[in-house]
Amino acid sequence: MRWSQLFIPTLREDPADADAASHRLLLRGGFIRQLMAGHYSMLPLGMRVRAKIIDIIRAEMNAIGAQEFLLPCMHPAEIWERTGRLAAIDVMFRLKDRKGSDMVLGVTHEEIFTTVAAELASYRELPQFWYQFQTKFRDEARPKSGLLRVREFTMKDSYSFDLDEAGLDKSFDAHRAAYERIFARLGIPAIVAEASNGTMGGKDSLEFMCPSEAGEDLVATCPNCDYAANLERATAALAPVEDEPGLAAPARLDTPGVRTIEHLATGYGLAADRQIKTLVQVMNGELTLVLLRGDHQLQDQKLVDATGVTDIRPAHPEEIRAALGALPGSLGAVGVTDLPVVADHALRGRRDMATGANTDDVHLTGVDVGRDIQVGTWADLREVTAGEPCPRCGAPLQLIRAIEIGHIFKLGRKFTTALGVTVLGPDGSAIIPIMGSYGIGVERAMAVIAEVHHDDAGLVWPVQVAPAEVTVLTLSAKDNAVVTAAESIYADLRAAGVDVLIDDRDERPGVKFKDAELTGIPVRVSVGSRDLADGAVEVVSRASGEKERVPVDQVVKHVQDLLAAAGR
Ligand SMILES: [Zn+2]
Repeated sequence: MRWSQLFIPTLREDPADADAASHRLLLRGGFIRQLMAGHYSMLPLGMRVRAKIIDIIRAEMNAIGAQEFLLPCMHPAEIWERTGRLAAIDVMFRLKDRKGSDMVLGVTHEEIFTTVAAELASYRELPQFWYQFQTKFRDEARPKSGLLRVREFTMKDSYSFDLDEAGLDKSFDAHRAAYERIFARLGIPAIVAEASNGTMGGKDSLEFMCPSEAGEDLVATCPNCDYAANLERATAALAPVEDEPGLAAPARLDTPGVRTIEHLATGYGLAADRQIKTLVQVMNGELTLVLLRGDHQLQDQKLVDATGVTDIRPAHPEEIRAALGALPGSLGAVGVTDLPVVADHALRGRRDMATGANTDDVHLTGVDVGRDIQVGTWADLREVTAGEPCPRCGAPLQLIRAIEIGHIFKLGRKFTTALGVTVLGPDGSAIIPIMGSYGIGVERAMAVIAEVHHDDAGLVWPVQVAPAEVTVLTLSAKDNAVVTAAESIYADLRAAGVDVLIDDRDERPGVKFKDAELTGIPVRVSVGSRDLADGAVEVVSRASGEKERVPVDQVVKHVQDLLAAAGR
């Protein structure tokens, strides 16, 4: 590869409104360009990195016996209707063809792979692992941070079909191990965290999370054991609270002007952990009371997961007054029988509690949750906070910001049931296969590698995914001896199987040095007049910055050793 012939539009200045380091540096290094918010063009250097990422993922998928497919990215809406996800997934792009038929662009491919699985006939064919690299479309409300949150991207998605739960467990574990190898090879440090299944359904899922300030997720991790969970799913071992027996019935407490938990605590000596917080949510159009301990916060995704309702919004004050007769600040569930009540586990068995009386400026004390409140659903609803005890070992949990780089799900039989897939079992009876699904975003992986591997001067690609392994700089394109030596080193490296890019442009050395650093190629060989007069060139490692003068006839061996040490 010759720099003089390639399209590598590097930028000297940071682009405006590129906050994430990966966004800034992939633009500056000439890897990507934005078409519109959330849609990026991949330029030649970006394509080289992307191809190497795909090669690593493909090799590890093939190694666990997965078979590669390619399914369409445009689907008939009707298939999504049959699994109930046409309505449930709000980020789906929808369109009509010229005949007026409803179509969608795939946000994922469970439905479509499952229609192919209808041709599986016998338990003898299971398990099957199927995967593809395919474009996904997601109409994100706020695409941002370059390749980290986009509306169009390549995903490696795979699906497993098994006869029973034990088989699914094995398939899931095989994928988990493959993902750990993939992220290690990509140079991405990954925490494996328990996660919410969201609209996928099923019971268990794990996310692979890369710690990063650019992340949009929070992960609770234990410094003492291997517990890690997305905040959407994390739990803590809360100390039990001992309550006084309380009153024989709730008592009225006049609390003029009191609207907050804190005010009730400071003004009336009712500590926040002795109060019941009452939130009113509209869930699938129905007003619902959501109860938490006064000092606890609602975790929105936990409410979705506990109830299966995705259409949730806080009720408006006028809706609340119409239903309960008071405004927020004086609300409670005592005596409420005509609205559903969902309560957090931390309120179980609590006595002598305080809560709003559904009369403005009035609260109730001496409330016994079991006796006085009709709870329809008990669930884990609270968001853990840093420092709470780890649910496994009790050590104080830490909260770290992270980027999701992979997500693996035990789906169960939701899709195979809805789409009517069965195979014949050993005794001739029809069995519905059980599924898993497993995803890695390719361009997001590229951005995360850039987030993890960069410095002030630019990108520092791990050698396995670098756009080239080595760049040879012809420092003075007008000096024949330099050109001849650089070309000869370039040819020798190529002959030795090294992925090498020669910067043969007629540019000042300073420009070439800056571009080499910015584009992050792991090894730089600089061929200049002065060193060459002594029969040497300068070899620099991008990651360590270490410089060495190396005799021309030893350059290939030296470079190969450097690449090997870097994990080539
Ligand atoms: Zn722990």
